[in-house]
Amino acid sequence: MQTVRAEMFSLDRYRDRLLQLHDHICPRQILGLRMGELAGRLLNISLPQKDKRLFVFVETDGCFADGVMVATGCSLGHRTLRLMDQGKVAATFVDTRSDPYGGLRIWPRPTIRQQARALCPDLSSRWHAQLEAYQRMPDDELLAWARVELVVSVKALISRPGVRATCDRCGEEIINERERWVDGMRLCAHCAGEAYFASPIQRAESAEAQTPA
Ligand SMILES: [Zn+2]
Ligand SMILES: [Zn+2]
Repeated sequence: MQTVRAEMFSLDRYRDRLLQLHDHICPRQILGLRMGELAGRLLNISLPQKDKRLFVFVETDGCFADGVMVATGCSLGHRTLRLMDQGKVAATFVDTRSDPYGGLRIWPRPTIRQQARALCPDLSSRWHAQLEAYQRMPDDELLAWARVELVVSVKALISRPGVRATCDRCGEEIINERERWVDGMRLCAHCAGEAYFASPIQRAESAEAQTPA
């Protein structure tokens, strides 16, 4: 992996946009901004992007993800950001133009909290020390990065615009080729058993079953 001389990080560039999303600016947003900027330099993509060239997997939601979004221009709305909810302040950036099967994963070095305290001993709290230090630390002290090979297909995730299907069981529309085929039936994820909520029908049945005779 090439090393890239960091430009001076400037929070001012992002402040307004962050404050549209939040009533505060916090250390995790800074980490998201710093990772986004570093990805732009290492992949040689000018950010924040106006097109959809860069795609990012964030490994947690929250303030961090907003930092990544603001620095890169990637978003759920542009279908260039996806949450892989692994509870980690880390992200993998994919240049869909040159390498849709490989990514650049960036994560914080494990000792940055202690380093922040050492770098800013005069600040009133650990939180304030992190907020300040994460803006000042050079890329290679703050972050680690590595090329990774993707085991999910960004092309399949993005799918094609205008593709529509109808679920043979519930009748709801399915876009982006997310249907499943089960016993010759075209089903939505929910009807194929990949539910994240209990349907009203299931609830009614279980309520009945629990009613004492
Ligand atoms: Zn925050
Ligand atoms: Zn269905």
